[in-house]
Amino acid sequence: MKKSIRDIDPAGKRVLMRVDFNVPLDDDGKITDDSRIKGAIPSIEHLTNAGGRVILMSHLGRPKGEKNPEFSLKPAADRLGELISAPVKFVDDCVGASAEAAVADLKDGEVLLLENVRFYAGETDNDADFSRQLAAHGDIYVNDAFGTAHRAHASTAGVTAFIDTSVMGFLIEKELEYLVTKLEEPQRPFVVIMGGAKVSDKIQILERLMEKADAFIIGGAMANTFRLAQGYEMGNSFAERKEEALEMARGILKTAEANGTPFHLPADTRYTKDFADDAPTECTGIWGEEGTAVPADREGIDIGDKAIEDFTKVIAEAGTVIWNGPMGVFEKRGFDIGTKAVGAAIAANEAAITIVGGGDSVTAANQFGFGEKMDHMSTGGGASLELLEGKELPGIAALDDK
Ligand code: AMP
Repeated sequence: MKKSIRDIDPAGKRVLMRVDFNVPLDDDGKITDDSRIKGAIPSIEHLTNAGGRVILMSHLGRPKGEKNPEFSLKPAADRLGELISAPVKFVDDCVGASAEAAVADLKDGEVLLLENVRFYAGETDNDADFSRQLAAHGDIYVNDAFGTAHRAHASTAGVTAFIDTSVMGFLIEKELEYLVTKLEEPQRPFVVIMGGAKVSDKIQILERLMEKADAFIIGGAMANTFRLAQGYEMGNSFAERKEEALEMARGILKTAEANGTPFHLPADTRYTKDFADDAPTECTGIWGEEGTAVPADREGIDIGDKAIEDFTKVIAEAGTVIWNGPMGVFEKRGFDIGTKAVGAAIAANEAAITIVGGGDSVTAANQFGFGEKMDHMSTGGGASLELLEGKELPGIAALDDK
């Protein structure tokens, strides 16, 4: 068990906190989605209320080790100030004289945001000297940037070698609670819903969760690969067509069968001729029935109506649900029916523990208005996948044990 922000006394201390303020900006440099900033507020206010001096650091975009005003965190400082209704200081560097002076000026209960740590190559190189310079700003280190916890960078891992106390913030604590602890003894039945592009991206999670899950639901282009592996005609569908991937898919199907774990592939597939918003779509017949195929000039872009009906029933009975990956090309109008329906079914199961694991599924859940209904929406894409694969994340491993 790692120490958390609950285990420290920040009063009068300089608390150096890594946050994930890697927010999307429009062409005018305006923040288009501030949910990552909002996510850090509970930890920030916990520290300021207790009299800590809070020094925030983050990356934004990929400035590749060079100072570039396009990737400045200044808009994030302003937005945080509005959200917490308190001044948030900003300094145009994360190390060096100006940063040191800004830190030295900070009073108990105040907040300072340092400029983008990726303006220095030492950040992603996890350079010891750069880590030491960052660490010198704080008496205590808090990591609350789950989205980068799977990276061993200076601000996420390297700093811990040069600071006495290193703990996690509330955001990482909640991610661990849902993506690790609650899955150790899941409320049953435990249903794993996987979608998205590739089987090969999710193979490790599928294999790992095979030991725990009571049922799997598969959608997205991934399902096309499984259907191809079973020998069906998938037309022009996006799928992994190499023998290696098909073998992988067959291996998973075999394991599920041997374990007696229901592995629900979509009973039918929605397909189109034109890959465009509002293009006409049709559903195949039921897979396994005579003549069912995606025609040669068509591509499967979503799960079909019968699949939606089946999946909805399985989800309604679930005690724990993990959802990772859309059921179809949800970014296009008309190809989003399956993703919307599955999201709605998860949201409707109020008795279940419902977890949305990162990236596209979080975007989809928010886009279709189900975000609030989920017990946990992970703030990390790659990081949540790695946790579900059972890997140790360097940004968490580096923190103090209890
Ligand atoms: P991932 O990052 O693996 O979760 O994949 C998400 C992407 O998979 C989204 O951009 C979807 O548009 C895409 N996707 C889902 N279903 C399909 C499909 N049937 N054909 C092509 N792309 C798909």
